[in-house]
This record gives sequence, C-alpha cells and structure tokens, in this order.
Amino acid sequence: MNTQPTASHFINGKYVEDTAGDLIEVIYPYTGQVIAKLHAATPAIVDQALDAARLAQQQWASWTGTERGRVLRRAADIMRERNHDLSMLETYDTGKPYSETSVADATSGADAFEYFGGLAGSITGAYIPLGDNFVYTRREPLGVCVGIGAWNYPTQIACWKGAPALACGNALVFKPSETTPLCALKVAEILIEAGVPAGVYNVIQGYGAVGAALVTDPRVDKVSLTGSVATGRKVYAAAAEGMRHVTMELGGKSPLVIFDDADLDAAVSGAILGNFYSSGQVCSNGTRVFVQKGIKPAFLARLSERLQGVVMGDPLDPATNYGPMVSAAQRDIVAGFIAKGQAEGARLVTGGTIPDGPGFFLPPTVFADVTDDMTIAREEIFGPVMSVLDFDTEQEVLARANDTPYGLAAGVFTADITRAHRMAAGFQAGTCYINTYNDAPVEAPFGGMKLSGVGRENSKAAIEHYSQIKSVYVRMDKCEAPF
Ligand code: NDP
Repeated sequence: MNTQPTASHFINGKYVEDTAGDLIEVIYPYTGQVIAKLHAATPAIVDQALDAARLAQQQWASWTGTERGRVLRRAADIMRERNHDLSMLETYDTGKPYSETSVADATSGADAFEYFGGLAGSITGAYIPLGDNFVYTRREPLGVCVGIGAWNYPTQIACWKGAPALACGNALVFKPSETTPLCALKVAEILIEAGVPAGVYNVIQGYGAVGAALVTDPRVDKVSLTGSVATGRKVYAAAAEGMRHVTMELGGKSPLVIFDDADLDAAVSGAILGNFYSSGQVCSNGTRVFVQKGIKPAFLARLSERLQGVVMGDPLDPATNYGPMVSAAQRDIVAGFIAKGQAEGARLVTGGTIPDGPGFFLPPTVFADVTDDMTIAREEIFGPVMSVLDFDTEQEVLARANDTPYGLAAGVFTADITRAHRMAAGFQAGTCYINTYNDAPVEAPFGGMKLSGVGRENSKAAIEHYSQIKSVYVRMDKCEAPF
C-alpha cells in the first residue's frame, strides 16, 4: 500500500504542500520504518486553511439541513465502501491490528457521518408564545471550528469532530496528531468526493505549535481537542482569551468494579476490553479494576487463562488481535510506569517485559495487590497496564472509585440490578457501563466530568456544542415606551 500522501495538507478541496514546514516522519509501529514524510504547516498554510474555512462556511451554512445531511450520508457510504483501504491505512498509522481497525475505525467514522447527516435536517429552533407576541429561536452554526486530535483513533477523531460540526453548518480545520497524520487526509478527500464544498473540511499537519496557533487565531470560533489533561488545560486557557467555545475530550483513570455475584467470564471480558483493546491506548479504559475480595483468586486465574488468547504480531495478519504501541516513546513511558509499579510493591501477575524483535510491543500487563496510593493507580498510563485492587463493600468501593481527579468513565459488573444502578448513579463519570465496558455508539453522548473534559461528543448532545441559539423577539401589538 502506498502510504505517502499526495501532499501534507488538504485545504480548499485540494492537496497543498509547503516544504518549508518542519519535517514529520510517519513511522509504522510494527517495523519502525518511515512510511511517509510530511511537513508541518507554516504560518502561510495556517492562514490559507483558516481563510478557506471562513469563506466556505458561509456558503455551506446557506444550504438546507437536508442538503447538508445528504452529502454527509454519501460520505458515510463511501467510507464503508473503502473500509478495507481506510482500515489498512489506520493500521499503518497507528499499528493497531487490521482485525480491529476493520471493524472499529472507518466504520465508526461512517456511523458519525450517517448519524449526523440524518440529524442535519432536524436542527431547528423553538417557538415561544407570549400572548399575542412571541419569540422564536434560531439554532445557528458557530462558524469556523478547529479540531485537534490525539493519535490513538485518527480516523474516528477526524469524523467525530467533523460530522457534527458540518451537520450544523460550520467549517472545520482539523489538525491530527503528528504521530498519526495520514488518515484525516482520506476523510477530507472523501468529503469532497461526496459533495461537501471545498474549504468546509480542511486538514493541516503540525506539532503542538500549529495547534496553539489555531487556537488563538481570531478567525476561529470553537476548539475541540482530544488529548491529555495537560494539553487540555493549555488549549482551554488559550481559547478562553477569545471567549471561544470548547469541547475537551481528555484523559482518565477510570474504575471498573467487579462484585462477587458477577458473571466471572463476562467480567473478565469487560476487564480485557477496558484495558487491552488497542494495546491499552484508549482514554476511557477502566484501568483500576476493583475486585471484591472473595473472587479475587478466581478472577486473576481466569484473566491469566484468557490472556493466553492474545495473538501479538504482524498487525496486517488477520489472526493478530494485539498490535504494537503507537511509538517507541509511548512504549517507553508505559514501561516506566511498569517499573514504578514494581518498585512501589505491586505484584506483577503477567506481562511487563518488552519482547525482542521488531515493533513497539508491550504485552498485556496485569498487576495485583495494587493500593490506591500507588502511581499506577493514580496516573493515566495510556498503555496495556491493568491494576487490580481489592475491596470489601459497595460503599467503600464507590468512594475509592471516585477518589480521582478524573471522571471520564466507570463500569460495574454485578448480577444485582438495583446495586448496578446505584453504582451508576454514584459514579462521578461522564460515561458509565453496567455489565459491559468501552462501548461507544454514536447515538450516546460521550465525554468527561471533572478533569476529563468539558462538553460531549456524539449523540444529539453534540449538536449543542457545535451550534448556538439566537432568540428573536417579535411584537405583534404596538411597541410602547414609558416616556
Ligand atoms: P496530547 O495532549 O499530547 O496531544 C493532543 C493533540 O494536541 C495533538 O494533536 C498535539 O499535537 C496537540 N497539542 C499539543 N500541545 C498543544 C498546544 N499547546 N496547543 C494546541 N494543541 C496542542 O495527547 P496525545 O496525542 O498524547 O493523546 C493521548 C491523550 O489523549 C491521553 O491523555 C488520552 O486519554 C487522551 N484521549 C482522550 C480521548 C477522549 O475522548 N476523552 C480519546 C483519546 C485520547 P502534537 O501531537 O503534535 O504535540
């Protein structure tokens, strides 16, 4: 597969290059080889993208919602037709196995375009009667939105931001992570092919500095970031300067609570999905697995058995179900956390060692006897490291589950339905799971509480975050004044 794009950026419906920008080398995580070379956006490229977006947005917003929706749904169809190629590219960009990307990435992006395409025609205001007079509201686009992505789901993030933004009549300038810059360019190509006017969806490459330049530009009305809390703080503060709208999809340290009445195999599945899918590089992962004391030995035994089913290897081999991490740097960060876990007295049950051979692999790693104060139980690792903690009572575990500055997700496995709903009500997290983990359908709102973020992606809730309300007062009788 040719992974070298035609040029680094996609602006105003065309590929654009400016070789004066810093070099970005794209590395295939399985071989460590450079598979594409791109350039970061120069100030001239940033200008070009924002000007194109500003101009195109007005025309796009003048289309009816149904017209906008039609082309977005066409884009969804094209994405599904090209699922194989898009999934291959996602695998080259991230290292995630094809067995995973072929069912989770372009398909999720297509769902977003289909869902928001379907909603576009019903984005309306309200009529508010006031006797003979009345007020009506108009739900209007924000203008030019900037999307800034993390590296773990480059296709999905480009679509999760693009679909609601475009459905509402905004234009978008998207900056992928420089680690995974390839997939968003394909999304841009497909949108143009589907009939989205040039300039409505633009992609420019760059390191953090390009993101920072976008966030503070006066032409920008909204910023949506998927990234770490540290970056979120900077971006939110910079956006506040211009009173820009924001969506912040940030990190987490989510709890997964397993009671002794749970279906053990289902709970083990939840813990695997919530820790090792995408080699653990998922923001909502339930990395603090609280297991009720009575079932701890059985849980650890079954988990170790099930982890024998991991097939780690060539991501393009359909039999592989576990790929390398995105980069050597990220793998080394995670290895550092593993060393800390051992140094602080956690018991390594399985994994933990970087294997010989090609690729940035780190096998599924499980620590038991983890306590709340250990670094591995407090900090986001963003890799395949599960911490198993013990607990006795519901009240105790809920307090400990919430004892974190993060609030992205939380899960519970139990056969007791009233307890399940009590736990869901008590969790301080934007997304809660009962007897499942890490589902993310486009129909449901997704986002964090506490330090994990602001705003929601997906669902009708996203419409609120990509549009604004204008109230229009209408007087039918005569307007009078006191003097
Ligand atoms: P980073 O926060 O390092 O980067 C996110 C993006 O922001 C990148 O494109 C980055 O560019 C850019 N950026 C960095 N500094 C600035 C700045 N000052 N101004 C504007 N943009 C900037 O995150 P990672 O890419 O390492 O992704 C991992 C993080 O993302 C984890 O914390 C994870 O939990 C979170 N995440 C959250 C999700 C959610 O939906 N809640 C989903 C997926 C991941 P560059 O890469 O070039 O530095």
